[in-house]
Parts: sequence; C-alpha cells; structure tokens
Amino acid sequence: MKGLSILGATGSIGTNVLRVKDAFPDRFEVVGLAGGRNAELLAEQVARHRPKVVSVADAATREVLGRLVDLSGTRAVVGEAGMVEVATHQAASMVVASAVGAVGLVPTYRALEAGKDVALANKETLVMAGELMLARARETGARLLPIDSEHCALHECLDGRRPQDVKRLILTASGGPFRSRPRDTFGAITRAEALAHPTWRMGRKITIDSATLMNKGLEVIEARWLFGVPPTRIDVIVHPQSVVHSMVELVDGTVLAQLGVTDMRMPIQYALSYPDKWEAAIPGLDFTAAMRLEFEPPDRAKFPCLSLAYRALEEGGTAPAALNAANEEAVAAFLDDRTTFTGIAETIAFVLDAEKPRPAATLDDVLSADLRARELARQALARRPAARV
Ligand code: MG
Repeated sequence: MKGLSILGATGSIGTNVLRVKDAFPDRFEVVGLAGGRNAELLAEQVARHRPKVVSVADAATREVLGRLVDLSGTRAVVGEAGMVEVATHQAASMVVASAVGAVGLVPTYRALEAGKDVALANKETLVMAGELMLARARETGARLLPIDSEHCALHECLDGRRPQDVKRLILTASGGPFRSRPRDTFGAITRAEALAHPTWRMGRKITIDSATLMNKGLEVIEARWLFGVPPTRIDVIVHPQSVVHSMVELVDGTVLAQLGVTDMRMPIQYALSYPDKWEAAIPGLDFTAAMRLEFEPPDRAKFPCLSLAYRALEEGGTAPAALNAANEEAVAAFLDDRTTFTGIAETIAFVLDAEKPRPAATLDDVLSADLRARELARQALARRPAARV
C-alpha cells in the first residue's frame, strides 16, 4: 500500500481524492491530511482515515478539532510548518497538492525536495515557481503528475512521443459562463453570475478564474513547465462542451485528443494510478445520445486575463508569480464585492506594469515578488469602485 498525504484535504479536489481512495481501498493508506479552518469536515476525515499527522491553519482550529475527534495516534500540527510536515512525512510516498493558491507553494516544494511523487492540482505553485519545482523534481527523481484535467489529457497524448514530433499543445477551455455575453455588460457581472460555471463544479477561486479565462492562462504557464514546451507552441481553443479535455498536434498534422466526462475523479485517478489504469467506478461518455463538439478561438478583448498570462510567461523571472499574486488578491476582492469583474484584469495589468520582473533563482525571490505584487494589488484595489451586488 502507498502512503498518501493530501494538502487541501477539505477542498473540492481533496474530498474527491478521498472518494477515489475509498473506491480503491487496497491501494493507499492516508498518512497525512492538511486542511485550513474547516474543523468539522477535517474531524470526519480524521475519524474515517486515521492519518498519522493532521495539519490545520492555526492553534484555534486545532483546539476545535481536538474537541470534535479523538486525536490519539494522530499528530496535530499547525500553519505552514504543519503543512510541510504533512508533505514530507516519511511514510508518505505520494503527496496530493490541492491547497488553493500561493499557500501551497512551500509545502509542495519541500515534498519534491524530499523525493515524494506529487500529484499536482495546485497550478498556482507551478505558475509561481515552475522552473524551481521542476529542478527539484529532477534532482530527487520525484514524479510530478498533473491532476488538472487539461494537463492529464496532454500528459496522456504525449506519453511515449518524442519532443521533436510535437508541433503544439492545444488547451481546451469551456469559455466560462460569459462566452456569449456582450462585452459592454462585463462591468455589471455579479458574483453569483460568475460563480455559476456551465460544465465543471469546482471551488470558488477557480470558478472565478474560469469566468475570466485566467484559469486557462495559468494552465498555459503550468503546461509550459510540466511539458517543457515554449508558450509560442501552446494554444487555447474554446470548447463549450468540455468533452475534449485537450489536444496535441504532431508535426505531420495529426491531432490527438483525449475525451472524457467532466468529473474531477477522472484526472485524480489518472495521477494516482499512473502509469497503470484502474477500472473506474464512474460512467463513461455516452455516444448513443446525440453529442455536438464545438470549437472557436477565445475572444482576447473580452477576456484580457489570457493575454496577461502569456505576457507574464514571456517576461519570465518573477513575472508569473506577480501575475498570480495580483490575480489572487483581485479575485478575493471580487468575491468580497470590493471590485468589479473587469477590475480583476485591470488590477493584474497595473501590477505587471509596476512590478518589473526579476530573476527567480530561489524560492525567496519568488516569495518576495509575491508579497510586493500583493501590496501593489491592494493599493490598486483600494482605488477601484466597488462591485454591484
Ligand atoms: Mg483545468
């Protein structure tokens, strides 16, 4: 049995990882769980899976957790150091990195440094420090496997292919809820409208990222590092049905596509079982019913976040970390009604103009760029009009 640690255990990915684990009870034992402040759900998970170590955001949450569940036999730790302990526990051979946002960076980095295989759902960590993460994985021989559905699809289409045979990677995007909405109404988009994703059920931050297409921009950066392909050879195509999860075009014009249902357990199982295939408990695609597959280019004027992500990748160094930090601050502000939908891209553009990229040679370079970009984003957001509610 493989030892499994999960960062972000109570989130949308984390809970689905535990469902996949339960569907294959002989494959994994849960070694560590790291959650934030959701003590109730974490208490249920601890009672069920009896991990060796559990980590929460702070001491107050640990106290609540201790009242809800018997923690004898489970070490309860807190904060970033606690997450690192979960990520590097000697009994864990695979770490699922599914904490949302920059908070996952250091623990995921430490897991790779300790030679743990990492199943990566937290794309922000690769956006911030892709080159450093890949370098650590190469040094220790740790495997870095994507949980993101598009990257699972690319990983699968690229498996066994020679790099010189690959012309380009084509990431598909659902287009989000505002694909057909007129651009001049974008300033009036409400939080509820942005949170209603047409095809995927996900956490709040990634759902907003999908509505702005920043999610696809972050995925372009993620693909650049995971597959070592330059951004000039990574394209984005809108595909509203989300049946084709991504494609690879070869130099002879052949296009390979990976298709599947929109259920996060599929990419999770792909990463957990790789290179094997386990029979899924999830129903597959139904080709007996009529199905349309549509493709169209993304509207970059309506969704400037996509171009901002390409820009940050081209500028290199700490620019993607600044992009990510500005986006996290702006999305949090939008979810709090402190900025408009269009204010998200405006904030990021302001930060990229103001924070000139520096070399990202160490984790500290990345973390200080993250802090500077957040400060700039907060200043910009303080000047923005509040969102309509
Ligand atoms: Mg994705």
